[in-house]
Amino acid sequence: MKSLVTVLGARPQFIKAGVVSDALRAGGVLREVLVHTGQHHDANMSDVFFAELGLAKPAHTLGIHGGRHGEMTGRMLEAIERVLLAERPAAVLVYGDTNSTLAGALAAVKLHIPVAHVEAGLRSFNRRMPEEINRVMTDHLSDVLFCPTDTAIANLKNEGITQGVYLTGDVMLDAVLSYRPVAEKRSRVLKQLDLRSKEYVLLTVHRAENTDSNERIEEIVDLLMRLQQPVVFPIHPRTRHKLASTRSLRGLAKLLFEAKHMRVIDPVSYLDMLALEDNARLVMTDSGGVQKEAYFLGVPCLTLREETEWVETLEGGWNRLVGADPKRTVPIVNSLWNNNGMRPVGRPNLAAFGGGKSAAFMVQKLMKEVR
Ligand code: UDP
Repeated sequence: MKSLVTVLGARPQFIKAGVVSDALRAGGVLREVLVHTGQHHDANMSDVFFAELGLAKPAHTLGIHGGRHGEMTGRMLEAIERVLLAERPAAVLVYGDTNSTLAGALAAVKLHIPVAHVEAGLRSFNRRMPEEINRVMTDHLSDVLFCPTDTAIANLKNEGITQGVYLTGDVMLDAVLSYRPVAEKRSRVLKQLDLRSKEYVLLTVHRAENTDSNERIEEIVDLLMRLQQPVVFPIHPRTRHKLASTRSLRGLAKLLFEAKHMRVIDPVSYLDMLALEDNARLVMTDSGGVQKEAYFLGVPCLTLREETEWVETLEGGWNRLVGADPKRTVPIVNSLWNNNGMRPVGRPNLAAFGGGKSAAFMVQKLMKEVR
């Protein structure tokens, strides 16, 4: 059987890969070899997803994390090249927009191994985002480009990429549709946190643009301190780390963590996250995945950024770009919370994201394309 090397490293990639791995196993034509770069390595950022999503144990664990972007990507490139030379796969599959994605694609293409990119064609048009650089580069290195939306196809066309491009829908919708009922049954997180459905805001923040500069993270803390609603905040290690990095930020973090309306908790498992999203009255996030999941679940979302790659979620006001300015954002939170005229209209358009059949479609194409 031909083999396919999948390069993974970060939380959202484990979630996307779960459903594709299942479909690859069902297809029975390609043997998947998992390479875990180590970019996310804590038990609650990595292991928990392998267990919950039934991912196979990685055949290669590279243990590369931390350091600057160039350093991390360079070390991954070197290590992945060694793995590819040993495995000699028929193709390499990469996901999304992390350093692991770019390193996997670059290592493969230099060895003349075809690259397939899941979540191709997304653009924020903000080159200051490390993710934007990673996704543009990866798309230009890829032979097979799996686009989740029409917008992604159009973005690639604008950059002259039309060969090997498929509109597949979004595997994250597949995951939400298959795991939502499981989360409903199995997750105990609401009980554990003593939360009632639709009586809290769910928050995540971790993008570099929100956590790299002291001013920006201070602005976000200021915004959060001004909210009057109960907020549940599974904090990303990067954000926790940043908030511990200077004396003044540590002081602010203490105020935030001890504020009566805030519940700052460690990152949660995927099933617990789905349960928290599904039962939130409102989601506030800068995460790509969480924006989409809120949309798929029909929960209004405020995105703490100036742009989004997932423009479809903005339709009907399901998602709104609010940045981080408290003056602008607090009234919007109050209005949405109280259902005061800002209620989203219509229903989320799941068909625009492939309706939950993306993984099977991708695997069909892979089985055809990979020779
Ligand atoms: N997620 C999770 N536990 C958490 C926070 C997020 O399982 O505590 C999941 C979330 O449901 C989504 C994915 O992680 O599927 C999003 O990943 P992240 O926000 O790290 O990255 P992004 O999507 O912005 O690339």
